[in-house]
Amino acid sequence: MKLWLALALLFSLVQAAQVNSGSAVVVQWPRPVEVFQGGLTEIHVSGQNLAAVEGRLHTTPIVFYPTGAHSFTAIIGADVEAKPGQSKLVLKATNQAGTSRDRVIPFKVKAKAFRKESFNVPPSFDEMSPETLEEIRREQAAFARAFAFSPSEPLWEAPFVRPVSQEASVSSFGSRRIVNGTPRAPHTGTDLSAPMGTEVVATNHGRVVLVGSFFFAGGSVVLDHGGGLFTMYFHLSEFKVEEGAMVRRGDVIALSGSSGRVTGPHLHWGARMANARIDPLELLTKISVNSERSALSKSIIKQTEK
Ligand SMILES: [Zn+2]
Repeated sequence: MKLWLALALLFSLVQAAQVNSGSAVVVQWPRPVEVFQGGLTEIHVSGQNLAAVEGRLHTTPIVFYPTGAHSFTAIIGADVEAKPGQSKLVLKATNQAGTSRDRVIPFKVKAKAFRKESFNVPPSFDEMSPETLEEIRREQAAFARAFAFSPSEPLWEAPFVRPVSQEASVSSFGSRRIVNGTPRAPHTGTDLSAPMGTEVVATNHGRVVLVGSFFFAGGSVVLDHGGGLFTMYFHLSEFKVEEGAMVRRGDVIALSGSSGRVTGPHLHWGARMANARIDPLELLTKISVNSERSALSKSIIKQTEK
């Protein structure tokens, strides 16, 4: 009796092995990736019966989302201050039978020639009182909280739209400012010219995760678009949304202004992808493939449909 049982078990194991060998993992891996500092790139992995793709760049997990029957896409950003050079993107593709393949893809960050601007301000403008330092700490903490969590499923849909119709003004993304002879942090957004009171719209669907007024950024709105992507809108004069609300692409979220540390009215537009501070203008041109959104994301978006 026991022998029959053993034989039956062996037979089923052989059968399972045959099924597995019949569904070998055949994967179309991406080519070596090159991206400029502050830039974005879309990468695709596809293959028969592909069930999941995972990725990692250094210690940062890369979120892949399904974009077709057997294809997955991730958007990878290089921080404005990412060190130029070669590194590795580690990918893992798993098929429906649970068999995985790993691949290391060369990943290169290319140096970008950002503008350098040097200017002086009166020393009093540059001195920080204890109250101001406290305000700055509050500002940093509020933004850190806003960026702390993002749903892994993208809520956005290509294409992204400009928050105001105007072109970028001269103070472009990534410019390095030297104030009173001291180099400052790079400019991590794109300044769009916008007369006081211009309607500012959401570049894409997302959740409002921050509405507040701060020392540097002035009136600020942050949107979480899922998949690790956030966009920021600064120096606003009036808010049209509340924290926690879902917005759709093109919804008016605020009016532009000149609040915070600015010399005149404009909209500062910023973006972060998986903590990399990227040029938001890249969203308009580099994202082309849509996620097959989960039922959850679809229902969230449906809730906000008018
Ligand atoms: Zn700015």
